[in-house]
Amino acid sequence: MIHDFHYLKPASLGEALSMLAEYGEACKIICGGQSLLILMRQGMVRPEYLIDIKHLKELDYITFDEKEGLSIGATTTHRTIEKSETVKKYYPVLVEMERNLASIQTRNWGTIGGNLAHADPAGDPAPVLITLGAEVTMTSVNGERKMPLEDFFVDYFTTELKENELLKEIRVPPPEPKSACVYYKFNLLKNDMAIVGVACKVTLMDDGTIKDAKICLANAGRVPIRAKKAEESVKGEKYNEKLFEKAGALASSECEPVSDIYGSEEFRRHLVAVLTRRMLASAYKAVK
Ligand SMILES: Cc1cc2nc3c(=O)[nH]c(=O)nc-3n(C[C@H](O)[C@H](O)[C@H](O)COP(=O)(O)OP(=O)(O)OC[C@H]3O[C@@H](n4cnc5c(N)ncnc54)[C@H](O)[C@@H]3O)c2cc1C
Repeated sequence: MIHDFHYLKPASLGEALSMLAEYGEACKIICGGQSLLILMRQGMVRPEYLIDIKHLKELDYITFDEKEGLSIGATTTHRTIEKSETVKKYYPVLVEMERNLASIQTRNWGTIGGNLAHADPAGDPAPVLITLGAEVTMTSVNGERKMPLEDFFVDYFTTELKENELLKEIRVPPPEPKSACVYYKFNLLKNDMAIVGVACKVTLMDDGTIKDAKICLANAGRVPIRAKKAEESVKGEKYNEKLFEKAGALASSECEPVSDIYGSEEFRRHLVAVLTRRMLASAYKAVK
């Protein structure tokens, strides 16, 4: 059973920020409630005040600009991103990722901001957005600050958000020419959380040499993990199965998975190796 709490419904972002500043650690933001309500039902989180921001239209938008790239407001639902023609045109990997995230019911309620702020290391959006070079904007009564999404995650279910701060926006730079990003999550039931997920982005030179590679792993550590040694190992090289196999082995050595009921540490390392090899090849082929 859920404990008693006060439900607050601010009329604007400004009012939400004032409430956050006033109630501090006694309050929690609620958006779609898809993660928070589970924690509350389990008694793991017991906020005295819930500040509902779901209805704030100020934070519900998707825009694209050739120079600025994609901007997504924090209260935008997974389903809205999945159905967005703009996202589909410029960042098809985001649509594909959303399509495999949870059920339609959860995607209809759950938001991109709630997903990132919840900071489950098995979350799907973070590794994809990190490989795309996303940045987040946080806001409070004291003003705004931005940081690369990669630096946003501190530990299991812990982010850089301060007590009085709210996640406002996610921005993704414009797609680079001759680049492609892919994501695959290994799970046992369709639309379930990842046992391991791997996102890869590859950028090529005109002659097919790999100019840049980004690899980010889901559920292979306390936070989404960049496999930087693996990335370095393929730069300046061309398509080569042996090279990608070596990159997979490096990624596997770089991650820090745990054993749980869904898979042992060894199994997760194996998955990272195999999926990194496959995703590098798949991203490479998608550019050519
Ligand atoms: C059955 C089920 C299956 C799921 N499967 C997947 C899956 O396959 N892949 C995946 O990635 N996720 C999965 N999820 C998680 C789901 O994506 C998230 O629960 C959802 O996106 C969270 O969004 P929300 O708006 O519901 O957040 P809420 O539950 O409202 O909030 C979550 C946390 O974020 C905080 N918060 C919310 N919005 C903000 C904000 N703007 N600024 C600061 N803090 C904020 C809240 O205080 C809370 O701590 C699943 C969830 C369920 C219930």
